[in-house]
Amino acid sequence: MISCAIRLAMSFGSILRHRIMHENNPKIYIFGAAFDPPHVGHFALIQAILHAKNPDTILIIPSGERDDKKYKIPSQYRREMCRLFTKECRDTRVVLDEYFFDFKGEMITKDVDEYVAKNYTGERVHIFGSDAVDTICGWDKEEYASKKIQKIFIRRKGREGCFDEKNLENIENYEFFEHERIPELSSSGIRNIIPDHTDISVLYENYKHFHIPGLSKQISKYILENRLYRPEKKKEKLLVHVCCGPDVTMPILQLRDEYDLVCFWYDPNIQPKSEHDKRYEAFKKVCEIEKIPFIKGAYDVKNFFTRIKGVEHTPERGEKCTYCYDMRMYVAAKLAKRFGFKFYTSSLNTSPKKDLEKLFRMGHKYAKKFGITFLDIPFRRRGGFAASVEYTKKHDIFRQNYCGCIYSIPEGGESEMKQKMIQARKE
Ligand code: SF4
Repeated sequence: MISCAIRLAMSFGSILRHRIMHENNPKIYIFGAAFDPPHVGHFALIQAILHAKNPDTILIIPSGERDDKKYKIPSQYRREMCRLFTKECRDTRVVLDEYFFDFKGEMITKDVDEYVAKNYTGERVHIFGSDAVDTICGWDKEEYASKKIQKIFIRRKGREGCFDEKNLENIENYEFFEHERIPELSSSGIRNIIPDHTDISVLYENYKHFHIPGLSKQISKYILENRLYRPEKKKEKLLVHVCCGPDVTMPILQLRDEYDLVCFWYDPNIQPKSEHDKRYEAFKKVCEIEKIPFIKGAYDVKNFFTRIKGVEHTPERGEKCTYCYDMRMYVAAKLAKRFGFKFYTSSLNTSPKKDLEKLFRMGHKYAKKFGITFLDIPFRRRGGFAASVEYTKKHDIFRQNYCGCIYSIPEGGESEMKQKMIQARKE
């Protein structure tokens, strides 16, 4: 018990001594890298150094654009990810210094070292991967990086023998650091797999558990939301059938980066005509804001009434709606084929009141008939519907309060039409 207490006191004494030493001469570890993007390997390295070396500061210094080093994404996104990453480290000793993001010209280790010496007080130690052993002597003519500065080379599992031991003879002021928790990861390896994980076709299935391997959840989400690291590919033409302005906001916002969109307004199911026109104007406003071309279909209301004949009074989502969806899907698919679109979809998939299964079945049925592809994307999921409500509030877009046909008015919310109908029934 006593020996235990002595050991504890001694170790406390050693921590204290360590601290006092640091207070006299704070120790700063400098972690300069591209962080394109910051990943769990960076995180593990920082945690290992915090734990093993007990530094006063770990300075994260992301590099800026250089003539010989172009990044895959604009600086502002890397900057934001580095901020998120620093927060995720949850240690006040981990500090992000953004100076070199805006630095013009070649950034070499000497520049970084001099900058830190000028702006921070303490003993500086630079962190490098152990493969730097082979190249460090060529980084500057004065042997500044190879001999003058203090540095640690990180040995990572699986990368033993990644440098020539002989080169160590020309390097001074270094030590090796290894920790079992530092994984073998590279930013370029992660960048290569990002498109597979953020592709729209896999996303909707897995959104709840969305996570890019090698990245934190927060950074994965940031990459997804800002559509970063996507390959440049030729956009295919996509015809989006539009049921109303609010609902088309989601296909537009979710698909515009990947497809060349053209919207198609075709809704003779909306009555009265004044309501139809009001909704059309709301849709037009969205297209104008988002700069999306559109086609206006005919108001062939007779077609609608002919199709639903005999089932007019079935409830919403029931038989009359099946005919109504069918009419709109058929006309949209036919038009897509005629104008050479390979893909089509419908904004009906945004509304929580629509029967998705039914819609998708019809979408595929007509895609097959016309030899095109239907995109069965539930735009309303993963917050899509809420986002469309938000959008309409922000841009003051008219939002209807009944589905569309005259028979849906009593089932909808309060409206002038509903009042008129109630009044007419009383009379
Ligand atoms: S309730 Fe809506 S979907 Fe159903 S028939 Fe009327 S307009 Fe069409």
